Amino acid sequence: MSSIEAKLQELKDAGTYRVLPISEGPCEAIITLNGKKVINLSSNNYLGFASHPRLKKAAKAAIDTYGVGAGAVRTIVGNMDIHEKLDATIAKFKHEEAALVFQSGFACNAGVIQAITDENDLIISDELNHASIIDGVRLSKASRAVYQHSNMEDLEKVLKEKRNDYKEVLIITDGVFSMDGDIAKLPEIVRLAKKYKAMTYVDDAHGSGVLGHSGRGTVDHFGLTGQVDFAMGTLSKAIGVIGGYVCCSKTARDYLLHRGRPLLFSTALMPAAAAAAIEAFAMLEESTEYTDKLWANAKFFKAKLAEKGFDIGHSETPITPIMIGDEAKTMAFSRELLKRGVFVSGIVFPTVPKGKGRVRCMVSALHNQVMLSQAVDILYETAKEMKIL
Ligand SMILES: *Cc1c(COP(=O)(O)O)cnc(C)c1O
Repeated sequence: MSSIEAKLQELKDAGTYRVLPISEGPCEAIITLNGKKVINLSSNNYLGFASHPRLKKAAKAAIDTYGVGAGAVRTIVGNMDIHEKLDATIAKFKHEEAALVFQSGFACNAGVIQAITDENDLIISDELNHASIIDGVRLSKASRAVYQHSNMEDLEKVLKEKRNDYKEVLIITDGVFSMDGDIAKLPEIVRLAKKYKAMTYVDDAHGSGVLGHSGRGTVDHFGLTGQVDFAMGTLSKAIGVIGGYVCCSKTARDYLLHRGRPLLFSTALMPAAAAAAIEAFAMLEESTEYTDKLWANAKFFKAKLAEKGFDIGHSETPITPIMIGDEAKTMAFSRELLKRGVFVSGIVFPTVPKGKGRVRCMVSALHNQVMLSQAVDILYETAKEMKIL
């Protein structure tokens, strides 16, 4: 244990040691954090579905019908009709051939990537891909290569050099990059994949419910529906519940039912979660009210920050980083903001590269312009005092 203690001390010395804040009550625009009311600029609850009355009602009804647990993995007796209905709902919403739900986005990436590749294959991954993709790649027996972030010349260079040495090649990218908010160059990735006969895998955790018509995601945003082999998403962010899924061909789904390890060895999603997610997709199909509000808020907030002179990076989505650089300063800024009534989490190494510390502001459909203006004022005053601006 002494080496773990030493590692903890290193974090404390670097100013990056953290104590988890405790939130009492639902995840909304104003939350009670450590006993104090603060403006919440840190959740992934983009559309406010996490505590929406319609989702709560659907979940409660499902508890009465199914109980609280699935009781087994999907491949034994945990595959309830509500799980099948959720798979079908997602495939229909995304206009894809099939979909398969896992217990979380993380479990989905960890399970699917290793299942669809083997020792004769190569995985090519964007250097800024999410940790769950990195872990999924680590679990695969395939060889690996990394290309510079969204650098299509570099991706093509890797394909040119290595394509012929492998049976299958899988290109993996985040649809929306979670720490910077930029969108993958999917049309170019799909074009290169066709040219070099590679498969494509898009993790759309931050694109689903945000981009595209009614929140259909990054693939829809670019009009590429049906052209990405594996379109993965999560039910825990814009959808507001829990769970992950992959859209793919019926054949691939069938294979994953046999080799997607989290599906075979971990109990199926809570049925009430499936019911709540089904309700969320119904709401997205009915109206663009929530996605419209999200984008209006994001645009308003970004314009205000830019006006004040903040460096907000190159985000193309509601994810709004405020670039700071130094790790300790980033964490100190976040702590000071919390004291003053705004919660924005500090994001530092290893989540982002060293020297690229930032606070990441997450705007949602639940905010209003009064709250966002107030948050910008507090951000500005604090940044001035701390010589960040
Ligand atoms: C959040 C996230 C995940 C994990 O999703 P969960 O459902 O929370 O496990 C996967 N990929 C990306 C890009 C994410 O941002």
